Amino acid sequence: MKAGIHPAYELVNVVCACGSTFRTRSTHKGDLRVEICSSCHPFFTGRQKLVDTEGRVDRFQKKFAKAREIQAQKKAAADNKAAAKKVQ
Ligand SMILES: [Zn+2]
Repeated sequence: MKAGIHPAYELVNVVCACGSTFRTRSTHKGDLRVEICSSCHPFFTGRQKLVDTEGRVDRFQKKFAKAREIQAQKKAAADNKAAAKKVQ
């Protein structure tokens, strides 16, 4: 190896959001924090799990609930109109 051109390749601790940690070597300075690792990723665990770190699933479900509510209101209004016509 030529001296003075290679970055330091040192031991770092990797800390996952699930709590597991392991050591590896990297040119990264300081410890690494990750959101998912091999001990919690569904591919490795075989268990179904929502990987939702930014609340995307939650946001989608809220949006969908609102849309359903609006549809229900429209349907109720249409039913009322139909009922009114029948009465006349
Ligand atoms: Zn993990």
